[in-house]
Amino acid sequence: MEYLNIYSNCQLVKGASRSLICDLQMRKSYPVSNDVYDVFCFLKDHSIEECVAHYGVDNQEAILSYVDFIVKKEMGFKDKGILAELSSLDLSWDAFTDITNVILEYNEDLNYDNPFFKALFNLNVHGLEVRCYDQTDLKKLEVFLATFKGSVLKYIKLILPYSLATNTKVLEQLVKDNLRIKSFLIHSAAEDQFIQIYKDSVPVTYYSEAINSCLSCGTIRSAYFITNMELFTESQQHNTCLNRKLSIDFNGFIKNCPSMQDSYGHMLETNLPGLLENQDFRKYWGIKKDDISVCRDCEYRHVCTDCRAYVEDPDDIYSKPLKCGYDPYTNEWEDWAIHPMKQAAIEEYGLSALIK
Ligand code: SF4
Repeated sequence: MEYLNIYSNCQLVKGASRSLICDLQMRKSYPVSNDVYDVFCFLKDHSIEECVAHYGVDNQEAILSYVDFIVKKEMGFKDKGILAELSSLDLSWDAFTDITNVILEYNEDLNYDNPFFKALFNLNVHGLEVRCYDQTDLKKLEVFLATFKGSVLKYIKLILPYSLATNTKVLEQLVKDNLRIKSFLIHSAAEDQFIQIYKDSVPVTYYSEAINSCLSCGTIRSAYFITNMELFTESQQHNTCLNRKLSIDFNGFIKNCPSMQDSYGHMLETNLPGLLENQDFRKYWGIKKDDISVCRDCEYRHVCTDCRAYVEDPDDIYSKPLKCGYDPYTNEWEDWAIHPMKQAAIEEYGLSALIK
């Protein structure tokens, strides 16, 4: 008898009408039918021969092709038994810091050399996204970025207007001076384009539309899906956008995300330890995809980043992200902005002008 052993880093996620195989090690995912999902579940404790006998010889060719797919993609192997050594994956998630990621709507007129900001970046924050909407003084920005030298911050994502980065040499120099810069998003560009700079190590995405306020945030696209261990495990119990996130908006006010209404005070007047104990500040951290309407039925729920700032029903914080056009019941994408059921929320959030 032959058995299919699927590596535990390959996780199956069942949706309403389709499933997803997530290879968390190779960072790839593959949509499959729910019938294929059922076959793989059956094969977890039955031989391939037993599986064929169970589903009937008419399905033998299909079952063997599913097994071949797993073997070919190096997501598993055939053996004489189910190997006990292949223990199941521990899906728990934790981080050794209260805040893992920060979004900053950069304002060159604000003083970031303050006790709150310093204490924040002494917390072992992993990632910082710096958003520059309009004209920015490059020299001032460089001085600001230099303050992270010697910190434990792992990466910086920079969002810049095209006017500041018409020449890739400017970007190359920014990276050379700040090796924590791991990616750029250049908005208001002449055309959409993707390039890699600094010996192909830093991706630069040019985006033709302007990003001049936080209203642009929260769009769900398949291109944004991330298949990896970090997001997959975090999504089991936590929100995939807001968990352990802190944002400082353009005026210096502290929020969960710049797009959200609630503020927890100004950075010049707020005590960080007190903020971190505030349960209100943490209230979105535990809203996981399995708690959210529609998303809980979606096969992409553990590779998709969430949005709680713009939701389909502004009175229901557990409703689906407004800016998602995917329907997990039909497996089709449509333009969310023209969906008749979303128009009231679009109006309420003041997004109408942005999407016209
Ligand atoms: S339905 Fe939910 S989980 Fe699925 S793609 Fe949209 S936002 Fe992501």
